[in-house]
Amino acid sequence: EEYDHELGQTEAVLVSVRVRPPNATELRTDSACIWTMPEHDQHIIKLAKGTEGTREDKDWIFDRILPPHSDNGGVYGTSARRHVRSAMEGYNAVIFAYGQTASGKTHTLTGSSAEPGIIPLSITDVFAQIRATPDREYLLRASYLELYNEAIIDLLSGVELQLSETKKGVVINGLTEMAVRTEDEVRRVLRSGEERRKVGATDWNSRSSRSHCVFRVTIESRSRNTIVDEGPVGARTPGGRLKAAGDKTTRISTLSIIDLAGSEKHTSSKERNAEGKHINQSLLTLKLVISKLADLASKRNVTHVPYRDSKLTRLLQNSLSGDALISVICTVSPSALNLAESISTLAFAQGLK
Ligand code: ADP
Ligand code: MG
Repeated sequence: EEYDHELGQTEAVLVSVRVRPPNATELRTDSACIWTMPEHDQHIIKLAKGTEGTREDKDWIFDRILPPHSDNGGVYGTSARRHVRSAMEGYNAVIFAYGQTASGKTHTLTGSSAEPGIIPLSITDVFAQIRATPDREYLLRASYLELYNEAIIDLLSGVELQLSETKKGVVINGLTEMAVRTEDEVRRVLRSGEERRKVGATDWNSRSSRSHCVFRVTIESRSRNTIVDEGPVGARTPGGRLKAAGDKTTRISTLSIIDLAGSEKHTSSKERNAEGKHINQSLLTLKLVISKLADLASKRNVTHVPYRDSKLTRLLQNSLSGDALISVICTVSPSALNLAESISTLAFAQGLK
């Protein structure tokens, strides 16, 4: 198995920071990117000139720095491929994009036809892996939901869903799970979800910045030769449960890819303030949960993982537990106008482990 980078390979939580290139307006107004990323060290990001001697003149250090010239294919290699491969092997994997609105979350995860993002790239990779593993049989199911103002909307049916706690963990009652056999089928599922999302939104732009979007593929596989049981690779135990006693060749795991609500302060109107509070609460809880999981993975003492403190972490609880591999891609604007929000994004990223 080849992995692109040495650092962070065995860690449960991988934190990346991606700086997008300046857009046309930014190029006209303040031209340069305020962040510098030394070529010789791909883990450091710092503010460009003008901050010497101030509190902000410091090196921020992360597992991966993705500079403005990086493309989605590169980001996939550094910050997602290992997670997708791990999900294929029976461990849960969760990939988040976090950052203020217009910093590049959707570009990174969904991308465009010219530059497909992590979601389509992972789908391509999954099917390539399936073709390369003829001795296993795979069953894939895709779901797509939006968490908007604390309501869970199934983007494949348009129906609002409720969570319930069962012995198996937190269940999203009635969630549509589409069996998908080809890349094309997954693309159709994605497209119909996107369309439903847009139809439901009267103010599409502000809604997309105030909702979390969760794309999930459940990957079930078993050896075609039922006598041979190769078991899980490595020392970790599978995040997915074994399907039935006596059939140890079946693995179930999930790959979840989450486009989070904009991390900026949401304070434009009274009604939005309530939403804003939910968003702030869910992102704060997410940070706490991920940092606790990082502690757990490195065998530090953990008393309590606060999944229950937000709906987002509750609905992700099953996917995040069971030795899940987590990747958080934090997206940052290059513009001086967004300095405060960018610093707050880096502080969030720093708090993850
Ligand atoms: P967000 O989802 O965080 O609100 P978007 O992904 O929609 O932000 O990005 C805002 C705009 O910037 C979009 O037009 C997008 O295409 C563009 N953009 C973002 N990141 C990049 C990038 N790395 N390279 C080129 N364009 C980008
Ligand atoms: Mg977006």
